[in-house]
Amino acid sequence: AQERYASIREKPAITQDEQHVTLLMNAGLMADLPSLEGSGAEGVGLFRTELQFLVRDQMPKRSELVTLYQRVLDASHGKRVVFRTLDIGSDKVLPYMKPTDEPNPALGWRAIRVGLDKPGVMRMQLQALMRAANGRPLSIMFPFVAQFEEYRAARQEIDKTLERERILGHALPERLEVGAMLETPSLAFAPHKFFEEVDFLSIGGNDLKQFFFAADRENERVRKRYDTLNVSFLTFIEQIVERCDRFETPLSFCGEDAGRPIEAVCLAAMGIRTLSMRPASIGPVKSLLMRVNLSDVRKIISDSRHRGDQSVRPAVMRYLREL
Ligand code: PEP
Ligand code: MG
Repeated sequence: AQERYASIREKPAITQDEQHVTLLMNAGLMADLPSLEGSGAEGVGLFRTELQFLVRDQMPKRSELVTLYQRVLDASHGKRVVFRTLDIGSDKVLPYMKPTDEPNPALGWRAIRVGLDKPGVMRMQLQALMRAANGRPLSIMFPFVAQFEEYRAARQEIDKTLERERILGHALPERLEVGAMLETPSLAFAPHKFFEEVDFLSIGGNDLKQFFFAADRENERVRKRYDTLNVSFLTFIEQIVERCDRFETPLSFCGEDAGRPIEAVCLAAMGIRTLSMRPASIGPVKSLLMRVNLSDVRKIISDSRHRGDQSVRPAVMRYLREL
């Protein structure tokens, strides 16, 4: 498939009305990294660090993590890599961690909630990331932040780690940006100050959609009932974009929908200018983006909304077929 899009691999995704959409890739294993060259991605927008924890039968040591993250940064040749801290719980259970018996794991003790309540592993991971960066720029993102206070507390952990590393005489990252994933509707309504303080946000569309519609992402029966191009969901996305624009908070979208060409075009039309997706999706998404006029798509979405459509998909499909 990458062969098919080879001719546009080095080209930026610029729409007919000259809007640039930055296309990044999602990764998690070393095996994904060669795709950074092959796919034409401008960087890694989501590095799912838990995958490395999930493929083992015991907790990795800090030194192993340092080596691993070093290799990721080396392989990225200076392109930005956003490391997401451990996102466990819910559907991702570490075989060597005591299982928790929870009636609703997706709504349970997961991701940053675990990181803040039992900070040992998170601290080890932050330290490993800083050592791996060894003076290079570093981007860290916390998963599943539901309220401002959680971001603040996580950021404090970063500050403490920086201080410890400085005392130990290790090189500190040249630049350190600390972002959050917007995966629960609550975070979209966080105080202004949150949007000012957070260095960047990335919409985890898989989880955000699950919680927006109260529809389990693992349950085919209900998941398919709600279209990502549902007018209510796109309106919500647009509101998040507006809040981020107002506070100049860089925003991206890294759920699976970013890699679906029609969804990607609609997200871009709503104002999302950075999309992170599976490497194989970059070619098809770029190819479609280069053919559309985003202001036309925006108008089509707005008309569809005024007509009271449930989903903008039929109207957008009509436009795309005519291209
Ligand atoms: C998401 O929720 O959209 C996301 C990118 O994170 P994950 O799929 O790993 O939960
Ligand atoms: Mg998620």
